[in-house]
Amino acid sequence: SDSHSSTEAVQATNDDAAASKLSCVSKGYMKDEYVHLFVRRSVRRSPIINRGYFARWAALRNLLLQFLKSDGHKDDNNCAKKQILSLGAGFDTTYFQLMDEKIAPHLYVELDFKEVTSKKAALIEHCSQLREKVGPEASISRERGEVLGDHYKLLPVDLRDITKLDAIISLAKLDPSLPTFIIAECVLIYLDPDSTKAIVGWASKTFPTAVFFLYEQIHPDDAFGEQMMKNLESRGCPLLGIYATPTLRDKENLFRDQGWQRAVAWDMLRVYNEFIETQERRRIERLELFDEFEEWHMMQEHYCVAYAINDEKDMFGNFGFS
Ligand code: SAM
Repeated sequence: SDSHSSTEAVQATNDDAAASKLSCVSKGYMKDEYVHLFVRRSVRRSPIINRGYFARWAALRNLLLQFLKSDGHKDDNNCAKKQILSLGAGFDTTYFQLMDEKIAPHLYVELDFKEVTSKKAALIEHCSQLREKVGPEASISRERGEVLGDHYKLLPVDLRDITKLDAIISLAKLDPSLPTFIIAECVLIYLDPDSTKAIVGWASKTFPTAVFFLYEQIHPDDAFGEQMMKNLESRGCPLLGIYATPTLRDKENLFRDQGWQRAVAWDMLRVYNEFIETQERRRIERLELFDEFEEWHMMQEHYCVAYAINDEKDMFGNFGFS
């Protein structure tokens, strides 16, 4: 059916993302000792694509580290315990990297379609580098598409099935009272707007102390945006959500309307120029010959980072872009 084939196409975007990250890693943009395990055929991407993926990675990494470092009231015994919940995590390797860096949170939970979590579970089971990071106690089932460790969980779910999300919380042993960082990297934009609203609203109601990180496309309506939309449509994965939130203001309002206390959205050109550290920019700008500045600017203006904050424990006063 149509919905089945488009589901497959959206899953294929995950293979694409992993291949692009590997392209960046081989060029020295960032370190990731794990992503190659998830890529069958390595590809070389253009400098523009590499730089774009680097910017995306650096922005998420910076905000994630801010979250992991922030602390609440000193009299709160639980202040060190934190959680990360990754929606549509695909083959993302952040958990394994944080383990290497010894800064993994108390609990890391990844959700995706079962087809994807099954593949990821199988890879975790068969690669000792991955398996040793999920803990000796972890039960791994390729059939169920599940990994259940004490500090890492991988679970299958269709995010549009909002009623299942509460069951996932208890299955994953997520504690709603703990500070939680929710990641939605190129995920919600593929969903219908009502599902996106439901997920964002559910997350706000569920987690009173949380950061919701979003990275995705904006501005479908200008010439570059139309081309971007055509490309994705021809691959069978239209950005169903983009017309409901085409601008930065719309992304911020999506969160505020669904109950989040604060929300900020910047396009990736601004994120690259004003948020990513100058030193890091200088380092990566020397890696490859680069002369497509006009296209780079246009591309970056069509992606954004938005983050929303619920701050019941008063921990995130200094969190964010500035
Ligand atoms: N977040 C990962 C990253 O940035 O590398 C993967 C991004 S990939 C473009 C989109 C992911 O979202 C895919 O793995 C896809 O299977 C997942 N996804 C899309 N719609 C979903 C849904 N309704 N339920 C669960 N996962 C979904």
